[in-house]
Amino acid sequence: MTVLSILSKIAGFFKNLVNAGLVTENDQLKNKIDSLENLLKLDLTLNETDGFYYKKNSKIPYCPRCFNVDKVACPLKIKGDPHYQDLKCPNCKEYYKN
Ligand SMILES: [Zn+2]
Repeated sequence: MTVLSILSKIAGFFKNLVNAGLVTENDQLKNKIDSLENLLKLDLTLNETDGFYYKKNSKIPYCPRCFNVDKVACPLKIKGDPHYQDLKCPNCKEYYKN
């Protein structure tokens, strides 16, 4: 094996390392952009009223905890007597009184 072939193999090894790093970093940046785009869409579609979040022209409340902490929109489910509404989040299991 010549010195040149050894150097060529070493160069190829480092080239692969650099390429692998760039692919990983590119994927991480794409994921970050996706989550920021989703957050922006949520911010544009949900409005806060009395501590709950609502879509425009809708009376269905969304979980404030999930929106503020996890940045996801989870519609709350009504539990028990409809005149005395207990609201439960199916995602984080948080209970609210309305
Ligand atoms: Zn929740």
